[in-house]
Amino acid sequence: MSEQAPQGYYAASAKPSRPFPRLAGALKTDICIVGGGYTGLHAALALAAAGAQPVLIEAETIGFGASGRNGGQIHTGLNQSQAALEKWLGLQHARDLWILTEESKALVRQTIARHGIDCGLRDGLVIAAHNKRSLPGLIEDTEYLAKHYRYDCVRMMDAQETAQKLGTDIYHGGRFDLGGGHLHPLDYARGLAAAADDAGASIWEHSRALALEDSGAAVTIRCESGTITADKVLLACDAFTGKIAPKLERYMGYVESFITATEPLPPHLAETVLPCGAAVADTRHVLDYYRKSREGRMLYAGRESYFSVPADIASLVRPRMLATFPQLRDVKIEYAWSGAVGITATRMPHLGALSERIFFAHGYSGQGVALTSIGGKLMAEAATGNRERFDVFARVPVRAIPGGKYFKQPLVSLALYGLKLMDSL
Ligand SMILES: Cc1cc2nc3c(=O)[nH]c(=O)nc-3n(C[C@H](O)[C@H](O)[C@H](O)COP(=O)(O)OP(=O)(O)OC[C@H]3O[C@@H](n4cnc5c(N)ncnc54)[C@H](O)[C@@H]3O)c2cc1C
Repeated sequence: MSEQAPQGYYAASAKPSRPFPRLAGALKTDICIVGGGYTGLHAALALAAAGAQPVLIEAETIGFGASGRNGGQIHTGLNQSQAALEKWLGLQHARDLWILTEESKALVRQTIARHGIDCGLRDGLVIAAHNKRSLPGLIEDTEYLAKHYRYDCVRMMDAQETAQKLGTDIYHGGRFDLGGGHLHPLDYARGLAAAADDAGASIWEHSRALALEDSGAAVTIRCESGTITADKVLLACDAFTGKIAPKLERYMGYVESFITATEPLPPHLAETVLPCGAAVADTRHVLDYYRKSREGRMLYAGRESYFSVPADIASLVRPRMLATFPQLRDVKIEYAWSGAVGITATRMPHLGALSERIFFAHGYSGQGVALTSIGGKLMAEAATGNRERFDVFARVPVRAIPGGKYFKQPLVSLALYGLKLMDSL
C-alpha cells in the first residue's frame, strides 16, 4: 500500500512532467493566472493560442489540486437537470448554459487531439440507478434531453443490460452516455501545461500567491518569492479560492473525496468487471464512481468525508467496492488518496469578477473535468474584453454557504451526512 504521493496512483503512473521554475524577483504581464489546474491551464492555453503571453503561477506543481487526483470522469451537462434550470433561470438562459456545457466536452476532446495529449481518453459514461426510486427521474431526464435538446448520444438500459455492461447486478437500470467518458487526470493536466508552454505561456511552479492588491490601475500579486504586476488577474484556485480572495470565501466549500486503485486485475476478473470499458457514477447524493485504468486496475471512489480525512482510506472504500463487485474480494488495493472537491451552495459553477481587473471561475461541484475547459476559456475571453459568453455563467444567481468562516465546513459535513442517510433509505 502506498499513500505517499498526494495524487496516489496517478502520480505513480503519469508521464514525466515538464518542470517549471520558481518565480523570483519582479515580473510585469498583461494577464496573470493564479492556479495550475485545468481551469488555469485552459485559460493560459486559450490566451497563448490567441497571441497573448500570460503568466501562470502554481503554488505547488501542475495538477497538484483536484485536477491531478480526480475520478477522471467526463460528465454531460450541469449538476441540475435542464428541466430544473429552465424553471429556475428561464428557457433561454438554460439553453445557453447547455450549449456551453456541450462545448466544454468538445473542447476537452479537441485540445487532447490537437496537442497530442496521451491521457488514455475513452468515450462512455454510465449513470447507474442505485435504487428503484432513482430510475424514473433518470429516464425522464434522458427523454427530456433527447426531445428538447436533441441530445442523442445517450440511451437508457434496463437492469439486465446494465448488469451485462458493468459486470454487477446491483443496479436497477442505467444511462449509457457516449458523450461522457474518462481520462487519466494528471496526464491530462501535464499535457495541458506542456501545450500552454509551447504556445507561449510563462508557467511558474512552487510560486504561491499570498495577496492581491488592485490599485485600479493594475493588480499587484505578492508571491512567496517575487511580485507580479498585471493588468488583469484570473483566479483559478477552486477549493482554495477563499484564501487568496476572502470575499469569495462564503460562496465556496469543499468535500474531501476518496479514491483507491487496486493492483492490475488478473485476466479472468478484468473480463468480467466493467466489460464495456465505460466509467460509472451512481445516482446517490454521496455517490460511488469508478472505472478501470489503462492497465486494468479498478479505480474505485466510494465515500466522502464528513468531518476529517481518515488515516486508512482504503479500509473506508473497500467495503463499497466489494458491495458492487464481490468478485474483487481477493484483489489488493495498492493506492489510496483523497482530494478536495470544490462545491457551491447551488452545485453550479461560480464565475464572476471581483473588479474590472480580477476574474474568477470555480465551484464545478464534482463536474470539473469537462466544465473547467469552458471555465478557463470564458475567463480568457472576459479578460480580453469579450464578456458575453462569460456572463451566461456569471448571471446564474449565487448563494452563500451558511455558517460563516468557522461553521461553514462543519455545516457542509452535516449536510453531506444527511444526504448519505437519504441515500440509504
Ligand atoms: C477526489 C476527486 C474526484 C473528482 N472526480 C471528478 C470526476 O470524476 N469528474 C469531474 O468532472 N470532476 C471531478 N472532480 C472535480 C474536478 O477535479 C475539479 O472540478 C477540477 O479539477 C477543478 O479544476 P481547477 O483547475 O478549477 O482547480 P484545481 O485543480 O484544484 O487547481 C487549483 C490549483 O490552484 C493552486 N493554488 C491554490 N491557491 C493558490 C495560490 N494562492 N497561488 C498559486 N496557486 C494556488 C492549487 O495548488 C491547485 O493546483 C473531482 C475532484 C476530486 C478532488
